[in-house]
Amino acid sequence: MGASTQVPDFKVGILALQGAVREHVGVFSRLGVEAVAVTDQATLEAVDALVLPGGESTAISRLLETSGLLEPVRRRVKDKIPTFGTCAGMILLARSVSDGRPDQHQLDGIDIDVRRNAFGRQVDSFETDLVVDGLPSDSRTRIAGPAAEAFHAVFIRAPLVERVGPGVEVLATVEGTDGERRAVLCREGSCLVSAFHPELSGDLRLHEMFLESAFASHVKVPAATASRSKQ
Ligand code: GLN
Repeated sequence: MGASTQVPDFKVGILALQGAVREHVGVFSRLGVEAVAVTDQATLEAVDALVLPGGESTAISRLLETSGLLEPVRRRVKDKIPTFGTCAGMILLARSVSDGRPDQHQLDGIDIDVRRNAFGRQVDSFETDLVVDGLPSDSRTRIAGPAAEAFHAVFIRAPLVERVGPGVEVLATVEGTDGERRAVLCREGSCLVSAFHPELSGDLRLHEMFLESAFASHVKVPAATASRSKQ
């Protein structure tokens, strides 16, 4: 990605309790940005952006509780750390979830309601090409192929977005089994969520888009705070 947009020493944390952690680390390192696995509070406090990966939201929720990370993660999300939730991560960041466990925790990072595994009645997983609003056009991070302008999305027991709040931007949709178009990529302020797994398609542009807005919000931090947080 463009060197001019990079923020020196910027560090992305991938919540590493369960799920597709290594794949996200790999994408960020291909983009030249440091990514670390977050399993404890000290590491969580030291990162500038946070990814909640795909996996199993019920398991991640339980592990958030047993690891003691639930409240610290909640706090960072509430304080608007740039956050990217993919699949199970989208479920955790939603305001509410249907077909979850009754004791499943919600981080309420984005004003959407989701239903777990709702694309998955007939097919457990599927792939499709998405048209995404606002994707960066850097040709080095775009995969080649007939649909190079589209983003190839891998869905694995994906959540269905059933409600989108008024402040939420819908950046991509897919036609559901009922013929309705359903949001699969949403953003509200510092929080970006996808129902699919962008870390599995070899296309770096969504991670790049996430970093661009994370970098933009990072430079707005007053200089004194920013330099203190780097010590
Ligand atoms: N169905 C899973 C859940 O409920 C999410 C699947 C995924 O992350 N690929 O958490």
